[in-house]
Amino acid sequence: MAAIYLNGKLVDRADAVVSVYDHGFLYGDGVFEGIRVYNGKIFKHQEHIQRLYESARAILLEIPLPPESLMQAIEQTVRAFGKPDGYIRVVITRGPGNLGIDPRKCEPQVIVIVDDIQLYPKELYESGLEIVTAATIRNHSNALNPRIKSLNYLNNILAKLEAIRAGCLEAIMLNTKGEVAECTADNIFLVKNGIVKTPPPDAGILLGITRNTILDLARADGIPTLECALTRLDVYTADECFLTGTGAEVIPVVKVDARPIGSGKPGPITRQLRQRYQTLVRE
Ligand code: PMP
Repeated sequence: MAAIYLNGKLVDRADAVVSVYDHGFLYGDGVFEGIRVYNGKIFKHQEHIQRLYESARAILLEIPLPPESLMQAIEQTVRAFGKPDGYIRVVITRGPGNLGIDPRKCEPQVIVIVDDIQLYPKELYESGLEIVTAATIRNHSNALNPRIKSLNYLNNILAKLEAIRAGCLEAIMLNTKGEVAECTADNIFLVKNGIVKTPPPDAGILLGITRNTILDLARADGIPTLECALTRLDVYTADECFLTGTGAEVIPVVKVDARPIGSGKPGPITRQLRQRYQTLVRE
């Protein structure tokens, strides 16, 4: 059973409710994080908390408790969940106000949900994903910066709907320059001539914590890495492609817009990094 923390205490699912006047509900005004627990240990807890507070700071949302207290609340909720492996969703909403968008009367709400994780089907980690490029462009950084993990995911949802209509589970989103940015809920990596490449922060992406972890793991294994602008042509002509995310972990991509990538099978560097990641999360 899920464990839920709401504004200072653990509550039953039936009592885990927010107001219909909450601006998180009315306008998507708020921020969130998705975190994994492996073997009872919260993976990259500090990094997720830092990103959450930075997202909040960017939208002038004051989280009503200091980071250390929120981390304790998360740990408390994980203990209440009771299982060694799970998924943590931390949500800070702007809180209930009136029907206008002015947030000044709102009181932020703090929610932590710990539940079982919904994964991609296991066989896809062996066989690899087929994905498409979405027509929906990733938000421009000067509109709603993708580095802010806000509650407003419509940009990603529109691209996800395109993926689903194309019979796929993920889609590549391009930025306003037509460069590859990221996928709807994952970052994207290519391998070309032994170099692991991924779009840079200024491509307009969420700075994924799994992304950073994979860059570190690649460097530790002596694999050269490069954060550089990538086009769809780079994707089509790559030797390997894979996606990273807290939920997805490291998942191979074998076909993009009907083009087989490399051999059309998950590549050796993808497998190696996935293996390294699986070991690290359970260390
Ligand atoms: N991009 C987007 C748009 C996402 O929603 C996510 C998932 N949080 C990611 C990338 C991957 O980020 P992380 O590795 O921190 O989960």
